[in-house]
Amino acid sequence: MKTVTRFAPSPTGNLHIGSARTALFNWLFAKNTKGKFLLRIEDTDKVRSTKDSINKILEGLKWLDLKWDDEIIYQSKNQKRHNEVAEDLLKNGLAYKCFCSEEELKNMREEAKILKKPFRYNRMWRDRDLKDAPKNIDPVIRIKSPIDGESNIDDIIQGSIKVSNEEMDDFIIVRSDGTPTYMLSVVVDDHDMNVTHIVRGHDHLTNTFRQNVIYNAMNWNVPKSAHIPLILGPDGSKMSKRHGAIDVEEYKNNGILSDALINYMLRLGWSHGDDEIISLENAIKWFSLEKIGKSPAKFDNDKLISVNSHYIKELDNNKIISFLENYYNKKYKIELDKISINRLNLGLDDIKTRSRDLNQLAEMALFYCSKFPITVSKKADKYIKKVDKNTFKDLLIVLKNIENDFKKQKIEQIIAKFLSEKGLKLSDIIQYIRAMITGLDVSPRIYDIMEVLGFEEIKKRIEYFING
Ligand code: GLU
Repeated sequence: MKTVTRFAPSPTGNLHIGSARTALFNWLFAKNTKGKFLLRIEDTDKVRSTKDSINKILEGLKWLDLKWDDEIIYQSKNQKRHNEVAEDLLKNGLAYKCFCSEEELKNMREEAKILKKPFRYNRMWRDRDLKDAPKNIDPVIRIKSPIDGESNIDDIIQGSIKVSNEEMDDFIIVRSDGTPTYMLSVVVDDHDMNVTHIVRGHDHLTNTFRQNVIYNAMNWNVPKSAHIPLILGPDGSKMSKRHGAIDVEEYKNNGILSDALINYMLRLGWSHGDDEIISLENAIKWFSLEKIGKSPAKFDNDKLISVNSHYIKELDNNKIISFLENYYNKKYKIELDKISINRLNLGLDDIKTRSRDLNQLAEMALFYCSKFPITVSKKADKYIKKVDKNTFKDLLIVLKNIENDFKKQKIEQIIAKFLSEKGLKLSDIIQYIRAMITGLDVSPRIYDIMEVLGFEEIKKRIEYFING
């Protein structure tokens, strides 16, 4: 039988890292088993679902390159079918109409509170004659949950889990306004989509027990389940905004590469020996649900950055340049011209090895652009303010002598000679020169940069500060 997995987000916000990881695990499992990965948008909550959120989810999945098979299913479009299933259950005596009043429910809740027990509807309409039904109440439809014995789930990740049926109640499958509930819609859709494996967060475990009641009542095959442990923040509490970025879009905006985020999310709860860097090809080959750990994974930002640095080093320069085109245009209104692109092609390899994220890379590579005057950081400006102008006037004269052979070794030699003649140390000039030609206080080796920029450009930049 072909594997069918699905990702079923509710479009009520952005694509959270936990959801993205659920999508990834479903996708990988489908790829590993040559099955299908389907996408279902659970948009039945009309108040909380938004178009904007749907777009964010789709954009996030596209950015991560987690392509789904077939058409997207919008759950709201299947409501008629969900109601038909509820009618079937009613007809077969496996569900019933409940005419409980608000007042009665309130009393049940209060009683539970006094007894310090979780609230359970007392099944008062389960076997009651409909002749008794009050006229002024629109009924809900409840499923008949088993009363005795226990229910069992053989979860691929969590193992065998048993729950006493006493803990379950006759939950609502159709609301009093006639709309199906999440519990019913999910089951009907998963069945109709031929889903074989439901891979989702551990927080859905109790839902799984309840949803199995519907599968059994309909006599449908119960899909296999795999409940993924949640992601915790570095301090061990539930991952949330206060731990920093949590939405896929935020990671993207923070300069994290999609390949790096995929690699990092994969390692959050799943492992293959001690491998940290795992290519997508190997991830597909090696992935199995059984190897997902049972305990929650802690989010570690340093690790994400270290994985990201690795992927940045490997990234093709053309891809970086097209990222930079966009970034500079948006932030500095700079268009990359031919000269800048040539310089970037010469200088990027070094900058790539120093970058934690793409934004840092962009700021570090900005000085290669032919924009004049250059942008100067606060730290660099402190040096520029203290520049000894005469030293640099003299240095330019010396550098002019090698103008036509402006190579890094040559530059290094001539600067060394200049320093010894002046009785100066390299540290007397290096940060000043760096500040004037890059606008930064940290950069690749100064001689390398000088070679890439060329004498004319160096002169122009230095003179701007010492003559100004
Ligand atoms: N729509 C649910 C959610 O976003 C997931 C449902 C499911 O995976 O069954 O939490």
